[in-house]
Amino acid sequence: MSSISESIIWGATKLQPVSASATLDTEVLLCWILHKERSYLRTWPEKILSTSQISAFKNLLNQRADGIPIAYLTGQREFWSREFKVTPEVLIPRPDTELLIETSLNLLSKIPAPKILDLGTGSGVIAITLALELPYLQILAVDKSTAALNIAQENANIHICNNIEFQISSWFQSIATQKFDLIVSNPPYIAATDPHLQTGDLRFEPQTALIAGTTGLDDIKEIVSNSAQYLTCNGWLLIEHGCTQKSAVQTLFQQYGYQNIQTYQDLSLLPRVTVGQLI
Ligand code: GLN
Repeated sequence: MSSISESIIWGATKLQPVSASATLDTEVLLCWILHKERSYLRTWPEKILSTSQISAFKNLLNQRADGIPIAYLTGQREFWSREFKVTPEVLIPRPDTELLIETSLNLLSKIPAPKILDLGTGSGVIAITLALELPYLQILAVDKSTAALNIAQENANIHICNNIEFQISSWFQSIATQKFDLIVSNPPYIAATDPHLQTGDLRFEPQTALIAGTTGLDDIKEIVSNSAQYLTCNGWLLIEHGCTQKSAVQTLFQQYGYQNIQTYQDLSLLPRVTVGQLI
């Protein structure tokens, strides 16, 4: 293995048993080492790699073969067309979560000077994306993990985003009494016994960001049951949830007095985000 094309064949073969996207993973890691776009690999397939490039590539490939997610190897992931820093202390941003952004933006377009709360901000992608799309927003983003808040703050700095305040808080616990026009969250929602937790990238992500009790609903319940006192009249609550949780989440919203409850589907046409308004 010494050229780009040989390296891709070697890498893809090695990743075949562990990844459904072996060639793509290999190319992304090679691009990361070479500091190039994927088109470069196509243009220069015969280019010979240096010894240090080969050894760095092999090192990353071996880690990927052990299952470590690509995003943790490159330390970044794209979300809403922007690059965000990620580490094993935070959940890897998913395309599914872009639905939370889209739904929030739709609701926010009708509210003048909105105040927003992002619960469990993690890498900060939700708060930062909203803040960049609508720079007049005032956002409070909380997380119970200091390590996560540090990453979120770094991401806010990278994107020169000054309209977010980050604060340590486990859900509402340390948030001073105040009202928000919109509360948004991508909380943990996987049941502790869900076999998916033993597969793929999930094995390497922070378990506290994924698991929510025996049904996966513990944190959603905590959020829905406490949001009312933090919402303005006509304020909105938006929660991402599992694709099998639509009716349980809608029932919780109803139980706590929400109206105009709607569930939206993600790109795979699975119910993924439920919203409700407190009137
Ligand atoms: N959507 C993620 C998954 O199923 C879970 C993220 C979360 O718990 N918020 O992989």
